[in-house]
Amino acid sequence: MDLITMRKTPLECWAANKIGIDEAALTREQISRYQMERLKATIQWAWRCSPFYRNLLQGVAEKELTCFDDLRRFPFTDAEDIRRQGLQFLCVSQDDISRAVTLDSSGTTGAVKRLYFESVDQAATVDFFQYGMAALVERGDRVLILLPGERAGSVGTLLATALNNLGAQPIPYGVVRSIPQALEVMYRERIDSLVGSPAEVFALARYAKTVAGKVFRLKNVLLSTDYVPKAIEGELQQLWGCDVFQHYGMTEMGLGGGTDCAAHSGYHLHEADFYFEIIDPLTFEVVPEGQKGEVVVTTLNRRGMPLIRYRTGDISRFIPGKCGCGAVLKRLEQISARKDGQIVLITNQYITMADLDEALFPVDGVISFAAEVDSIKKATKLTITALTVGKSAGRIEHELYFALNKVTAIRLARRAGMLTVQIKNKRCDGTLFPSKAKRAITELKEVDEN
Ligand SMILES: [Zn+2]
Repeated sequence: MDLITMRKTPLECWAANKIGIDEAALTREQISRYQMERLKATIQWAWRCSPFYRNLLQGVAEKELTCFDDLRRFPFTDAEDIRRQGLQFLCVSQDDISRAVTLDSSGTTGAVKRLYFESVDQAATVDFFQYGMAALVERGDRVLILLPGERAGSVGTLLATALNNLGAQPIPYGVVRSIPQALEVMYRERIDSLVGSPAEVFALARYAKTVAGKVFRLKNVLLSTDYVPKAIEGELQQLWGCDVFQHYGMTEMGLGGGTDCAAHSGYHLHEADFYFEIIDPLTFEVVPEGQKGEVVVTTLNRRGMPLIRYRTGDISRFIPGKCGCGAVLKRLEQISARKDGQIVLITNQYITMADLDEALFPVDGVISFAAEVDSIKKATKLTITALTVGKSAGRIEHELYFALNKVTAIRLARRAGMLTVQIKNKRCDGTLFPSKAKRAITELKEVDEN
């Protein structure tokens, strides 16, 4: 792509507005100065108003920050803290909370993780979505939203508000259960673009091509909530002739974290609302720029439930240097793994869902798949349940076994006779597996035979 004409990410304008300066004058120094002021304010706000932080920051919050290195003396927070003491994080009364989001009940305590937002916090998300979507949506575009949107304040609803503000036409749909039904809506509504999770959007594209015989031409697709395998990106570009954008966010970040630009080289981070760090997950030290580690985030403007040095569990790195689009906003490389998503094989090598995605999605006829292991700490058995169309069962199973061998850890373990692989082939009747926000290799919950 021509670097001279490439459009700068609209998030740069969003950040400049928020910082209160002209976009053309935005520099790294100004972002840093703004972030330092907001870090100090957030720490004081949290320490004064939240019982959790009052306790956690005793002895560290009294001394004012003078530089970013000072932040290193602050303790980390994580999902387990939110599960155990979610309400104690609050800096405002529960009456001021307009939305509570309840997430999975994984983790050692089995308790649910609940995040709380004030209406101003949600307005900030809409604002960010509006600028993020401006990278790929024009006035009048019809945009299908394949994200949960049943409740007020849910991601689909906030995104629809942002699209309305942009003068685009949102078409809320929700999570895909029936592929033919979703394709029918795409066709009937003559959509220009869509937003959804990678695996669901991929299933729509594959099914449309193989079974429904429907050809779509889309302008843009925004993939959100999960890792985007190269195989999915390539297939969407080829089948729908569209450009594929990626969004990074999690509920903890009020859903907005970053979005890539026309250069497609990492997510431009939401730096006016968050301060990001990358740490070594073992030593907890901040790593040099460009090195991989765990993404840690501190909210800069969150009122209801601020997060300070929150360990996201996502593994990534900052991409050094300036983006091809000319923006100064930092870029985060695509998340390739989650700390808790690494399945250790009995050979001590590990695999991730991303590895399996890259290996299995290119197999023609695969609509979707799920993966299970007998143990996430010393796996000796891997079971793939694939939803397929087209080819004969025998042929597709053979191709899936073959494709799995492209994952080095699997190939070596199988060759050493230390890993059994089982493929269960299910013909896809148009219904998808019940969806999860993030796909993961799960541990089989079978009764131990011993
Ligand atoms: Zn860019």
